[in-house]
Amino acid sequence: MEADILVIGGGISGLTAAIEAAETGYSVILVEKNPYLGGRVTQLTRYFPKICPPYCGLEILIKRLQNCKNLKYITMAEVKSVSGSAGNFTVKVEKKPRFVTDACTACGACVEVCPVEMPNPFNFGMDKCKAIYFPHEMAYPPIYVIDAEACKGKECAQCVSACKYNAIDLDMKPEEITINAKAIIVATGWNPYDKSKLTNLLPDHPNVITNMMMERLASPNGPTKGKIVRPSDGKEPKTIAFVQCAGSRDENHLPFCSAVCCLASMKHALYIRERIPDAKVYIFYIDLRAYGRYEDFFQKVASDENVQFIKGKVAKIEDAGNGNLIVHAEDTSTGKKVSMEVEMVVLATGMQPSTAVQKIEGLEYDEFGFVIEKEGIIPCGVARKPADVATSNQDATGAVLKAIQVIRG
Ligand SMILES: Cc1cc2nc3c(=O)[nH]c(=O)nc-3n(C[C@H](O)[C@H](O)[C@H](O)COP(=O)(O)OP(=O)(O)OC[C@H]3O[C@@H](n4cnc5c(N)ncnc54)[C@H](O)[C@@H]3O)c2cc1C
Repeated sequence: MEADILVIGGGISGLTAAIEAAETGYSVILVEKNPYLGGRVTQLTRYFPKICPPYCGLEILIKRLQNCKNLKYITMAEVKSVSGSAGNFTVKVEKKPRFVTDACTACGACVEVCPVEMPNPFNFGMDKCKAIYFPHEMAYPPIYVIDAEACKGKECAQCVSACKYNAIDLDMKPEEITINAKAIIVATGWNPYDKSKLTNLLPDHPNVITNMMMERLASPNGPTKGKIVRPSDGKEPKTIAFVQCAGSRDENHLPFCSAVCCLASMKHALYIRERIPDAKVYIFYIDLRAYGRYEDFFQKVASDENVQFIKGKVAKIEDAGNGNLIVHAEDTSTGKKVSMEVEMVVLATGMQPSTAVQKIEGLEYDEFGFVIEKEGIIPCGVARKPADVATSNQDATGAVLKAIQVIRG
C-alpha cells in the first residue's frame, strides 16, 4: 500500500489530520488499532467547557471522511515499526481479524445467540457484553466484532447460523501489511494511568473509580444508562470526593501534569449535581489548573455551594467498612488534617501516552514516552503532549502543514 501521508491513530487528532490532509488533495492512509474510529473521546459523556456531547463533532468528521475519496482507513490495525527516511518511509502494521465482514448490517441477531459473556472493554468492565459485540452505540464503521480470546470459535458458531447476511467469517486470519509513505503523522494518544499502581488510594475498592469510569457511568449509553451509582451496591452516592493528581505530578508515577484532569473533575461535578441534586462534591487538589478561557468554567462550578474545593493532596484512602471510604488529607489553607467519610471516590488519573507502554519501533520519545518530532515524522495531539480536544485539533492541523512541507521538499 502507498500514500503521501500515513496517519497512525484514529482518535480525534488522527481523524482531523487525515481528513484535512485528504481534503487538501494528498493521498492518506489512516491506521487505527481499535475496531472503531474516534479514540478516547467516544468514551466521554460531554465536553468541557460547553458540556456538549462529543458525538456532535465526531459525526461531522465521519461525514467529511466519507466524502474523501483519497483517504483509506484500516481498523483493528496496529503500527509496529517505522523505518526509512523523509519522503520514503516503510511502515509495518499488524491487522487483527474482525471475523465480521462489511456485509454486516448491525442487526444484532448474532448477539442474541452468542453464549459467551465478557467484561465490556468500552465501559471498563463495569458491565458485560457478548463475545460478538458492537463496540458502542455510535461506533464507526458500524460493524460488529468478535473478541478472539473470548469466542468459542468453530465448535460454537451459533452466530454464523444466526447471520442472514453471511457476514461472519471465523476463518479470518491476522495479516501483516506494509505501507510506504512520504510523511507520517503520529496521533497515538493516551491511556488512563493504571490505578492499581496507586496502592495508598485503595484502588481495588469497588467504590473507588477513575475519572474515565465516571465518564462511562454518566453516559446515556453507559453501563447504568447515565445513572451515577456506586458499583458496590447500585446506591446513589450523596457524598463524592475527587482526588486530583492521582499519580500525576509525582515522580513515582507520571511526573507531568495532564492538563485536563482539573477541568474533567469540574465537569464531573456538574454531571453529579445535575443527576443527584442534593449530592455534595469535594475536590481535593494540589493546584487548580483552568488555563486561558477555562477560568469562566471554573468560576461557574465553584459558585455552586455544594461543590467544595479543598487544597490538599490526599495521602491515603481507607475502607470505612460499610461501603464508604475515608479520605485522609491535609488542608494546606488551614494547616489542619482532614479525615472525611464519603460514599464514593473518583481518582483523577492522568493521561499516559500510549507509546510509554507500547513503543513503535523507529520513533523517538522523550523521558515520559511522548513522541518527538523528527524529519518527516510529526506527532500531534496527546501523542505529543497532554492536551484537550481543541488544542489537539489545532495541533493536528499544524501537523498536516508540516507533512505537506516534507512532501513538497
Ligand atoms: C477524564 C477525562 C475527561 C476528558 N474530558 C475532556 C473534555 O470534556 N473536553 C476536552 O477538550 N478534552 C477532554 N479530555 C481530553 C481528551 O480526551 C483528549 O484531548 C483527546 O482524547 C486527545 O485525542 P487524541 O486523538 O490525541 O488521542 P486518543 O483519543 O487517545 O486517540 C488515539 C488513537 O490512536 C490509536 N492508537 C494508539 N496506538 C496505535 C498504534 N500503534 N497503531 C494504530 N493505532 C493506535 C488508539 O487506539 C486511539 O484510537 C478528557 C480527558 C480525560 C482523562
